[in-house]
Amino acid sequence: MLLKCNEASYKVGTSIDASIVRKKQMEWRIKMKKVQTHKMTVSVDEHSSHLEQFKAFYKQLDDQGKTIEKLPRETIEDYQLKAVNATLAHVWDNNEYYRSRLEEAGFTEPKLDSLEQLASVPMLKKDVIRGDKEKILCVDPKEIGQVHLTSGTSGKPIYTAYTLADQYVYDLLPKYLELFKETEDDVAAIALPYEFALPGLGFQRLFQFAFGTAVLSLGKGGYMAPVDKSLELMKEYQATVLATTPSYAALLVEESEKYGIKIGEDIRMKKIWLTGEGCSSTFRERLEKWWGCEVSFFYGSTECGVIGVECSKHNGYHIMEGHVKVEIIDPESGEVLPHGKTGELVVTTLLREGMPMVRYRTGDLGVLQKSKCDCGLTMDVLQLRGRMEHMLRIGEADYSPFMLEHFLMELPEVGLWYHFKMNQGELTIEAEKFKTEMSDDQLAEKIKQHMADRIGINCEVVIRDDIPRTFGKAQRVFT
Ligand SMILES: [Zn+2]
Repeated sequence: MLLKCNEASYKVGTSIDASIVRKKQMEWRIKMKKVQTHKMTVSVDEHSSHLEQFKAFYKQLDDQGKTIEKLPRETIEDYQLKAVNATLAHVWDNNEYYRSRLEEAGFTEPKLDSLEQLASVPMLKKDVIRGDKEKILCVDPKEIGQVHLTSGTSGKPIYTAYTLADQYVYDLLPKYLELFKETEDDVAAIALPYEFALPGLGFQRLFQFAFGTAVLSLGKGGYMAPVDKSLELMKEYQATVLATTPSYAALLVEESEKYGIKIGEDIRMKKIWLTGEGCSSTFRERLEKWWGCEVSFFYGSTECGVIGVECSKHNGYHIMEGHVKVEIIDPESGEVLPHGKTGELVVTTLLREGMPMVRYRTGDLGVLQKSKCDCGLTMDVLQLRGRMEHMLRIGEADYSPFMLEHFLMELPEVGLWYHFKMNQGELTIEAEKFKTEMSDDQLAEKIKQHMADRIGINCEVVIRDDIPRTFGKAQRVFT
């Protein structure tokens, strides 16, 4: 398979003449204005798929100087229905499991007349695909270009296979130029895992191919990625964008003091994208203060890719409706819930040939709203409520850890590292002090009082100064 980038063709699997590539890059740079470009025109030779038809849709938007972000709802939904039908036809023709499930549900052909009818398509549960490489594979294994795995914190991993065209052609078709302001003038530091999971490489492709941004592949927590070297590289290359997790963004700031690197002087960020772990808006705002730049959430998963991105109004995630169709269901009955009701997110990917996810139950909780966002985007807005298995039952009610974090972070004396520990329905909060003269007892009492006043929960509080920092996924909830 040939990956073709503008004039230069790279034979995948053979060595690339670096000097030719550099020369070509120089030529492109001279030709291109210093604006965000989506300049890489990538095509995969001798390739055709059910997704080719959508190139015309996006080409027309390009020609009109538009993106999917502000289209009238009817146009977005019309596109989504076409893309869902194309995906259903693809899985029907190419995957036994998907087809048998559709037939069992009474389908005689893979076609919906409206997006509402998607509710009649069987849902896909994680357990079905866990540890099974081929269950929902819809292409010849030879066509696979990249495999990613979920972190597998709960049992066997989920393997997700992408074709090269998935990642380098179709994934780049929808543009979100209102949400992403990065250009080739930026330098993006990617402090996310590059091993197994999607985030590191996913952001790398986005920045390089869509925006022409230089990338510093810092990774996160790996053998080759100590914090001091990462900070040094960001300083040396004057990184302007950082993509990382909330806890690692906090860790980098803390460590910068230790290494004498001044955030805001030695490293001047324009934008931070947070992903991988959820966090509350108060946590995000603290990071904004510390880093001196806008911090936004990016919600995606290794199985589904990008799902939602926060706009500058920070009122929730705009659903990336070029890439996914999102539904909210009642996790018990499986019934689709209307906008405004909280339930489990179910995602259908729209631009995948390798391993499309059809009505995939994510286990994440959220609520969808029709977009009335001041930013002017017409894409639906999602409020994320965390993961189902992470909800904490305190007394008679369930609480999202993000909500508890939000209230905890309202107290400026509390640091960014904490634990919520559950024991037989009782919550103990372990927290650290942050730049305060208060004694441990005083702060513990203040937190207790604050949580009781703000959300009416009684908890125990332990002030510690040794909550472990982590390079991996921060574990804050213990049940
Ligand atoms: Zn908005």
